Amino acid sequence: PWHVVAGLVAALMTMPLAACGGDGETGADSFTVGLLLPSRAVPRWEQFDRPLIEKRLKALCPHCAMEYANADNDATRQQQQMISMITKGVRVLILDAADTRALRSSIQQARQAGVPVVAYDRLAEGPISGYVSFNGAQVGKLQAEALLKAMGDRANGGNVVMMNGDPASSNAAWFRSGALSVLTGKVKIRRSYDTPGWSTENAHANMSAAIAALGPGRIDGVLAANDAIAAGVISALKSAGVQKLPPVTGQDADLDAVRRIIKGEQYMTVYKPFRTEAAAVAAMAVALGRGGSLRDVATTATDSPTTRHIPSVLLTPRAVTVGDVRQTLVKDGVYTIGQICTQA
Ligand code: BGC
Repeated sequence: PWHVVAGLVAALMTMPLAACGGDGETGADSFTVGLLLPSRAVPRWEQFDRPLIEKRLKALCPHCAMEYANADNDATRQQQQMISMITKGVRVLILDAADTRALRSSIQQARQAGVPVVAYDRLAEGPISGYVSFNGAQVGKLQAEALLKAMGDRANGGNVVMMNGDPASSNAAWFRSGALSVLTGKVKIRRSYDTPGWSTENAHANMSAAIAALGPGRIDGVLAANDAIAAGVISALKSAGVQKLPPVTGQDADLDAVRRIIKGEQYMTVYKPFRTEAAAVAAMAVALGRGGSLRDVATTATDSPTTRHIPSVLLTPRAVTVGDVRQTLVKDGVYTIGQICTQA
């Protein structure tokens, strides 16, 4: 009879939401996001990415928590960190892979456990749900274009040394191919090195070998994949007694690199506003954690060697030479003039 139905409806309407299994603060909107970053060899990961992602997650999902681990460039350690987070019950993982191939089986395990994995900055192989990065080919192009400009007359047939990133990260090849698309046919690539761990020490050793092989005065430009590598290149040139440093590129806008740019030792860096990258990955993680799709978050799709049409956000990097520091890094609040002009 109708009065029974009406009574039931009235009861349902006054019932607290929790009694219906609605989860208020403790269920669907209160979950843990695992953040796995690859190393401490460059300052960006701990200094910018980690706090920016955490802050953005909190803003988008006040009841969410974040678990954090850094792999210190060790893929086996990162696999363990990832499995331990899955075991602890994180609902989503943000993974910046120490090795973009080696994490594949752990990503498969995450998928089996129902934990979506968002690839951050580096596109790991395996069943990835979403991807956020800067356009890596564009990074390489910006470096190469700036290098040619700085080489002047030597941009036509001059000698270039290429100091690439760590091949364990798919980004290294992405940066290199962007750079080569500009350099090929214009300059002579005399030597090309990979830099394990993107480390300053390895870059220093490789650059010393290049100087010994080619002669100190015969290098007209150095395409260094990032600022940690640029640091090793410049210290090797100085230790070899090179008086007039050739133009050297970089990436990341490390504080030390910005100081070298102001001093005229490094020609440029590529600035990738980390805040934008962090915001995009936090939005993806929260959307997936809430069980939603990435339709409103992703702006494009990317293919990896294993997976097609990964919903993605690919951001635009920007070249910074001495004249742009104020309008980019200082204006965006990355560093103050005081920080840049104080010697470390
Ligand atoms: C990032 C660079 C960074 C490099 C070394 C790459 O995946 O895109 O910004 O310099 O890793 O950590």
